[in-house]
Amino acid sequence: MLCISCGKVIEFYSEALERLQDKLCKSENFEGVTHTLEIKGYCKACRKKRKK
Ligand SMILES: [Zn+2]
Repeated sequence: MLCISCGKVIEFYSEALERLQDKLCKSENFEGVTHTLEIKGYCKACRKKRKK
């Protein structure tokens, strides 16, 4: 996750997401080697700032 306000990067891992990607690759007969998922938004600190 990338904060578009301060540039902070938060790494995350989801087993459900990994499984879903695996499933999607298999359904397309695609061999996935690497993947990135980027969610852009505002981190906790920046959300607080925005509220003020
Ligand atoms: Zn931020």
